[in-house]
Amino acid sequence: MSLAPMLVEKADELGVDVRYHTRMIHLVQNDQDTVTGIIAEDENGKKFEIKAMKGTILCTGGYANNVEMLEDLNPAALEENVYSDAPANYGEGISAGTWIGAARDKMPAVLVFDRGIVPPGTKAEETYIMEPFKDFFWMGSQPFLKLNINGERFANESVPYDYIVNAAGYQPGNMYVMVWDSNYRQHIDANHTLGCSRIEYPSPTGGMQTYVSAGGYDGNDKQIQDLIERGYIVKADTIEELAAKLQLPVETATQHIERYNELCEKGIDEDFGNESSRLHAVKEGPFYGCLLGGRILSTLDGLKINTNMQVLRKDGSVIAGLYAAGNDSGGFFAYTYPERLPGTAVSRAFTFGWLAGEHAAGIK
Ligand SMILES: Cc1cc2nc3c(=O)[nH]c(=O)nc-3n(C[C@H](O)[C@H](O)[C@H](O)COP(=O)(O)OP(=O)(O)OC[C@H]3O[C@@H](n4cnc5c(N)ncnc54)[C@H](O)[C@@H]3O)c2cc1C
Repeated sequence: MSLAPMLVEKADELGVDVRYHTRMIHLVQNDQDTVTGIIAEDENGKKFEIKAMKGTILCTGGYANNVEMLEDLNPAALEENVYSDAPANYGEGISAGTWIGAARDKMPAVLVFDRGIVPPGTKAEETYIMEPFKDFFWMGSQPFLKLNINGERFANESVPYDYIVNAAGYQPGNMYVMVWDSNYRQHIDANHTLGCSRIEYPSPTGGMQTYVSAGGYDGNDKQIQDLIERGYIVKADTIEELAAKLQLPVETATQHIERYNELCEKGIDEDFGNESSRLHAVKEGPFYGCLLGGRILSTLDGLKINTNMQVLRKDGSVIAGLYAAGNDSGGFFAYTYPERLPGTAVSRAFTFGWLAGEHAAGIK
């Protein structure tokens, strides 16, 4: 059984009143400024008060799906990312806290994936598609050759997902293209990527198992074909034709691909230090390429808290009765989520939510 049903089962057993389709609108305070509960709204728009017996914990998951808050708090993230994969996170917990005087992180932080495929010519600063998993291009995380929109190689491609998006944030247009050739299946094997950029992995019961949505190599080929038909991936017989279809300056892009091929031949990446096993010449047509930008999975900056997860004012005093956890809480990440340490976002949410609950219940 996966975790959510397990938690629901336990909550039912304990008689917890779980309300779905019920939105917190704002917090309620008494004369002493203690938070005493919330004003909520049901699916019919009916507003009502929920009184907190022990405390109120804000955990609405950050603001990745709120363009106005992103513009205000993290404009760089909006410039570099083309998709949001966080459909339910409108920043309402963070807003509710700040409306009653809570302090917020000074530095924004965001959890980003690198597989946001968009048609050539798309401008990142004009694009933020809020449909989760829309055109989630699994292969976009492979350490294949990447060029900026001026056709220049700009980074070591063999890095965790967020690093390449951050590097592209220093490039014109905040985006990059990935190019590969017809030997990509063998190259993916040699790359041997782990986590959710892998295409196939050894099954515990023997043989190979395909990664969830990618459907293994066949599913991957199918996705490439679909994206070609829809004009997201371009296919060409020559490098020059590929560069033109990707709307790159042809001469510069060709020079940089030739230089990369030279380094592949040598087996040493003298320019950016990519590992030899992950250098794959782009030399056997047909050639492929696509334009990529980042996908925001979560924002990670939030309300200032102490070690009991109690929300603080700017002067450091505690707002009595109020806690924050998960992506509504701050003080943990700055600027980026380090994808070399996978799991820290979700484990922070679980652990700090637990700690907040214990403190509110008076257990600790
Ligand atoms: C595709 C994807 C992959 C990810 N992979 C990883 C990973 O590998 N490792 C990792 O550590 N993290 C990962 N994350 C991030 C991780 O899932 C989040 O950081 C974590 O779920 C945050 O937990 P949370 O409780 O703060 O918010 P959420 O899990 O977003 O929960 C917030 C809840 O609050 C509800 N809500 C919102 N507004 C209101 C309101 N006004 N009133 C009432 N309820 C409200 C929402 O409906 C939602 O149910 C991934 C995220 C995505 C999208």
